Amino acid sequence: MSPISRDTPAVRLRGVVKRYGDRNVVDGVSLDIEQGEFFALLGANGAGKTTLISMLAGLTRPSAGSVQVLGHEVTREPYLTRRLLGVVPQELVFDPFFTVREALRLQSGYFGLRRNDDWIDELLHHLGLTRQAQQNMRALSGGMKRRVMVAQALVHKPPVIVLDEPTAGVDVELRQSLWHFITELNRQGHTVLLTTHYLEEAESLCSRIGMLKLGHLVALDSTHALLSRFASTQLLLRCTGQPLPPQLAQRARAVGARVAWTVRDASEVEALLGELRAAGCDLDELEVRRADLEDAFLQIMGAGPRDDAGGSA
Ligand code: ATP
Repeated sequence: MSPISRDTPAVRLRGVVKRYGDRNVVDGVSLDIEQGEFFALLGANGAGKTTLISMLAGLTRPSAGSVQVLGHEVTREPYLTRRLLGVVPQELVFDPFFTVREALRLQSGYFGLRRNDDWIDELLHHLGLTRQAQQNMRALSGGMKRRVMVAQALVHKPPVIVLDEPTAGVDVELRQSLWHFITELNRQGHTVLLTTHYLEEAESLCSRIGMLKLGHLVALDSTHALLSRFASTQLLLRCTGQPLPPQLAQRARAVGARVAWTVRDASEVEALLGELRAAGCDLDELEVRRADLEDAFLQIMGAGPRDDAGGSA
């Protein structure tokens, strides 16, 4: 393999379409992810994220368009691109008859790596699996199996790491150790592509974000730009007593049992509260909240605002 220039995108998608029956579940997606990026691909259930990842991994053929990993077309060079990628799948796939170490040695063997135990030991350590190394895969808990999936994907130190909802249903400890390790690999130059429904993870980890809706890329920008464009400050409260004066009701949105206004700053909050009091409204459950990636996501996806401060997409 010839050396890869730093300018070559880690992932390049051009007009990628995947058709099932008469439906394009991925519909003309074009996107570059540069080397060294920590990139999140977000979207509701069924948006097409896993289908895109399957095409990157060479598990599904695109119906049209080009899918490249570090300058190599996946359909033309599937073996090479598989070496360049480490994919942590959403599903737990494992052979129940092997121990953890055997599974990782076997995976190393697929890539022609015979003396890989030093790196395997490091992976076991970073993923909190050292004590499980000799245990049979079938005896592990779901969270431990997921750690092994991550280790398997990284066994050949791939330059591009793809994580498809790696933290779905895993405990806080694994999340923290996993992100610590993946962030460190990213610092060392590995490109990371992540799909997740935990938007706070994407917000804190990823420098750039793409959003898919029904197979279309509907947003693509730096996390910072998305937050400053879409996220603003919200004043939420419950009013009792008098109805809202019309000039304030016009600008308000119903959010569950509360009403919400988008405001620029604290002085606007004060002015609003003053007008409400002057109109005889009794104020209850007052909250001022800085909007986050979840609000940006909901606005972009065309849904209404959420009714609470937590939760996931
Ligand atoms: P989730 O967040 O639920 O994992 P996703 O964004 O990863 O969703 P995909 O799994 O890529 O979405 O699915 C996109 C659409 O393609 C869905 O409507 C799904 O039903 C459909 N789909 C996926 N695989 C197939 C297939 N083999 N045959 C037919 N339709 C499929």
